[in-house]
Amino acid sequence: SASIEIAGVSKIYDGGVRAVDAVAMDIRQGEFFSLLGPSGCGKTTTLRMIAGFEAPSAGAIRVDGTDITHLPAHKRDMGMVFQNYALFPHRSVQENVAFGLRMRRIDKATIAAKVKAALAMVELTGMEDRRPGQLSGGQQQRVALARAIVIEPRVLLCDEPLGALDKKLRQQMQFELKQLQKALGLTLVFVTHDQEEALAMSDRIAVMNGGRVEQIGTPVEIYDRPTTRFVADFIGDTNIFRGERAATTSGSGLAVGNGLVLTLPASVSAEATGVLSVALRPEKIRLTAAGQSPSACAHGQVESTNFLGGAVLYRIALTSGHRILAQQPNAGTSSLFAPGNLVALDWDPSDLVVLR
Ligand code: ADP
Ligand code: MG
Repeated sequence: SASIEIAGVSKIYDGGVRAVDAVAMDIRQGEFFSLLGPSGCGKTTTLRMIAGFEAPSAGAIRVDGTDITHLPAHKRDMGMVFQNYALFPHRSVQENVAFGLRMRRIDKATIAAKVKAALAMVELTGMEDRRPGQLSGGQQQRVALARAIVIEPRVLLCDEPLGALDKKLRQQMQFELKQLQKALGLTLVFVTHDQEEALAMSDRIAVMNGGRVEQIGTPVEIYDRPTTRFVADFIGDTNIFRGERAATTSGSGLAVGNGLVLTLPASVSAEATGVLSVALRPEKIRLTAAGQSPSACAHGQVESTNFLGGAVLYRIALTSGHRILAQQPNAGTSSLFAPGNLVALDWDPSDLVVLR
C-alpha cells in the first residue's frame, strides 16, 4: 500500500463551480482515512481526482512521493468502490471479480486463484456463478469490494459504499470493511456524509465544508477538540456560546450575556481580548437538583427530556436565557429529572473548546 499527498489541490468545473478549494492532506500508508462532510462539499470530486477520473485545476497529487497528477486513471493502480456497486448485471460474480485481472492480461489459472481468494475474503465462496440480480444489496457490495481488491491495489477508494444498505447490514459491513482493510494493510480513502460512520471506522478524518478542509484529526480529536464552529456543529450535538472576554477572579472568562460568565480553560491567555466562541458537549455537563451545588457553573430549568436508553438528553433553559443540551447516563429512575425541575449545571472549564 501507499501514502497519498494532496498538495493545494483545487477543482473548478466548467461554468466556474469551485468544487474543491486548495485542499491539502497527507494520507499515510495503511491508513483508513475518511472525507466527511455534507452533500456538495467536494468529497466525490476529491476522490475522483485521486483516482484520475478528474484533473485538478491546480495543485499536485503524489503517491509514495511520485507526482501522479497527470497519470491516466488505469495506470494508478487504485481500486474503487461506489455506492451503486456498478457491477455488470449480465455477468456472473466470477466474471465481475475477474474483470480487472483480465484487463491486465493475466493467465487464466492465476485469475481463477486470485478470484477465489478475493471471494473468500469477502465471504462469498460458493456464489461464483450467480448474477448480481440474484444477490442481496450487501452481497452485491461485497462483490464490488472483491472486484476492487483482487487487483491488489496500492490504494482503495470508496465513495459512500455502504449508503444503500439498511442500518443493521451497514454496521456489519462497516466492521467487515475495517477488518479487511487492516488485514490487507490497505491505504483506504473513504467518502461519507455520515458522521457516525466516519467516527466508527476511521484512523483519521478530514472534515470538509464548501470545498475546503475544516479540520483533519483522529475521531477522538475531531469529536473532543473541534477547531471550528462548523466541525463542532456537524459532529454530534454540541452547545456553542459566543461572548466577550472578561477577567474573572479565577482567570479569564467569557461573558456570554445576561450575567452568565463562563470560566475559560487555563490554556487561554488572560490578556487576550475580543469576541470568542466556545463549544461544550452535552455529556460533559453534570446535572444536580437546584441548591445542591453552591458553586455551579449555571442554573436552569428542564424544558424537555429525550430518553435514549443508556442516557437521557435534557433540553434546559438557563436563567441567563440560553437554551442548552445536557446528557446524563441513565442511572435509574431516581436519578432522572422531569420537565419543570430546577437544576444546577457543572462542568470542567477544560471541557470548553475554543473555536476559531
Ligand atoms: P460531494 O461528493 O461532497 O457531495 P461533489 O464533489 O460531488 O460533492 O460536488 C461538489 C460541487 O461540485 C457541488 O457543488 C457539485 O454540484 C459540483 N459538481 C460536481 N460535479 C460536477 C460537474 N461534473 N460539473 C459541474 N459541477 C459539478
Ligand atoms: Mg459525493
